[in-house]
Amino acid sequence: MSARTISAPIVTPETEHFWQAARTGKFLLRRCTACQQTHWYPRAICPFCLGDTVWEEHSGTGVIYSWTVMRREAVPYAMGYVTLDDGPTMMASFNGIDFDDLRIGMRVKLAWEIAADGTPVPAFTV
Ligand SMILES: [Zn+2]
Repeated sequence: MSARTISAPIVTPETEHFWQAARTGKFLLRRCTACQQTHWYPRAICPFCLGDTVWEEHSGTGVIYSWTVMRREAVPYAMGYVTLDDGPTMMASFNGIDFDDLRIGMRVKLAWEIAADGTPVPAFTV
């Protein structure tokens, strides 16, 4: 939809598996094996209780927590926070949603954007 250039994600040992899975269309979150909570971004140790964590595939559905429109760029775009149905809140851009239609609480679903290096990056649409 847009000609906006998306920077390639910074891949770390903790996030490498996430980006590999993203290239196959899978959206992964880490879940704690002790307290069972999921979190974002992926961490080897649970940010809530310091327990061990495992990868799980998730749907990427949720609701908009907040949003803003970045109009100072060559190609304006919307971004904000989405609270996933599976727990964590994550920042991402919104695609395929008219700026005037964006609402807090609006249901959205994952829709990958392709970064400059070809890596799919999480974004959301309706
Ligand atoms: Zn935990």
